[in-house]
Amino acid sequence: MSIATAGRLYVVATPIGNLGDLSPRAREVLSTCALIAAEDTRHTGTLLKAFGVATPLLSLHDHNEAQRAPELVQRMQSGASIALVSDAGTPAISDPGFDLVRAAAAAGIEVVAIPGPCAAVAALSIGGLPTDRFCFEGFLPARGSARRARLDELKGEPRTLVFYESPHRVIETLEDCAAAFGAARPATVAREITKLYETTYRGTLSELAARAAADGDFIRGEIVLLVGGAPAQPSAGEAGAGESGADGHGGALDRVLKILLAELPLKQAAHLAAKIAQVRDNEAYKRALYLKRED
Ligand code: SAM
Repeated sequence: MSIATAGRLYVVATPIGNLGDLSPRAREVLSTCALIAAEDTRHTGTLLKAFGVATPLLSLHDHNEAQRAPELVQRMQSGASIALVSDAGTPAISDPGFDLVRAAAAAGIEVVAIPGPCAAVAALSIGGLPTDRFCFEGFLPARGSARRARLDELKGEPRTLVFYESPHRVIETLEDCAAAFGAARPATVAREITKLYETTYRGTLSELAARAAADGDFIRGEIVLLVGGAPAQPSAGEAGAGESGADGHGGALDRVLKILLAELPLKQAAHLAAKIAQVRDNEAYKRALYLKRED
């Protein structure tokens, strides 16, 4: 029995450059399903031709997805299996697909992933920035003020940030990132992944902004921007300098400690202050010693 006969929705990842990345399983599903819902039928038509796949195509893009989804769900309910593809990479990741997946799942249709290329994951895998936790932000707003407002919201985010960006805006975006996150934040730009001119640029945000402004190649082709997360707050001991508010917690720890130290033994004051200011016990203890000495 063919794998695409049970009225399922297959969400099929396609290459982001190198056609060799279409998996054998993706090819089989595309060949055997009843219909392929594609973001751009001409674009996907070229891919299918390269693999000798003759399955009928139907367009499903951002502007018709919500209307088309019920009709496609009906076809799957009547037994037809449908493959969903976008122009490149994984559908529904900054691409159409979400409405159809949601409608299919709500109708009890089995939704099956045929995983493969995704520019965000590929960039993370080669970026050299922490990948244990990351935050996918997709495309930033195109308008400068909206973009800067979004970046401002993200400045304290400790996870590695992942952005898709148009090559025309990459210089401005790097400059805005440097202004919002600090010029010294580490970042990576992964350009043209899997393609002929694949290049990975690593450096601080200000270095990458300068490089992008000076090097014409930098701003050609498709780009993923990774930005290292906000560094952890310095601990009270590390913050060290004696000015008020130098506790690494906006002064909150010092204020609590001063009140408690006036009433309680140092160890007890530090323990309670740690609970109230939500810091580690030893941080509060070191800060309490510092404040006591200063007294
Ligand atoms: N769904 C796709 C995926 O799984 O990666 C992403 C689609 S989104 C509309 C297109 C964006 O992905 C591009 O503007 C670029 O930021 C990024 N991208 C796609 N292909 C890329 C490549 N080969 N190299 C670098 N970035 C790429």
